[in-house]
Amino acid sequence: MLGYNATMSSLERKEHHEKLKSKYNNKINDELEYAYGWMGNGNFLDALQNQAPNQIEYCKRSMEHPPLKLLEKMQQETTVRSITLTRTKCEADIMSKPSCYLCGKTLANSIVSITDFSLLKCNCGQQYAHISCADKHISNNSQCGICKKYIMLNHIRHSNLHKTLLRF
Ligand SMILES: [Zn+2]
Ligand SMILES: [Zn+2]
Repeated sequence: MLGYNATMSSLERKEHHEKLKSKYNNKINDELEYAYGWMGNGNFLDALQNQAPNQIEYCKRSMEHPPLKLLEKMQQETTVRSITLTRTKCEADIMSKPSCYLCGKTLANSIVSITDFSLLKCNCGQQYAHISCADKHISNNSQCGICKKYIMLNHIRHSNLHKTLLRF
């Protein structure tokens, strides 16, 4: 389109825009301004590249001065399928064995198994540890070595890590 292509850098686009303006003796600057705007629009550039019908449709709706004729032609001619985005599922990793933040040994058989543990909390986040490890740690370091905040210690008995994750 007007000698632009989707792979131009922003500097190349700007230079091309200036070239076009002088080529047409500044007579169609408004039109050229639109074209320049299109070629700087990431969604439009993506549509040129991937030709996906829903991306083209999105351009028609979202662009300030969409090149409707071009977009409609692209929509008619494209043979590409619509882009579908799949959301990656976040699921609790129930099978893995959580380990103690302080000694590294197993803390529970899984995050849903009932156990006693300590929750250490500071500005850096929260960590889980054996109650004995946590008590020993806190008596030597009441403040976090990184954020310097006093570590909040909670002993949680007869519960599971999964519940605690949701609660705090
Ligand atoms: Zn431990
Ligand atoms: Zn911290």
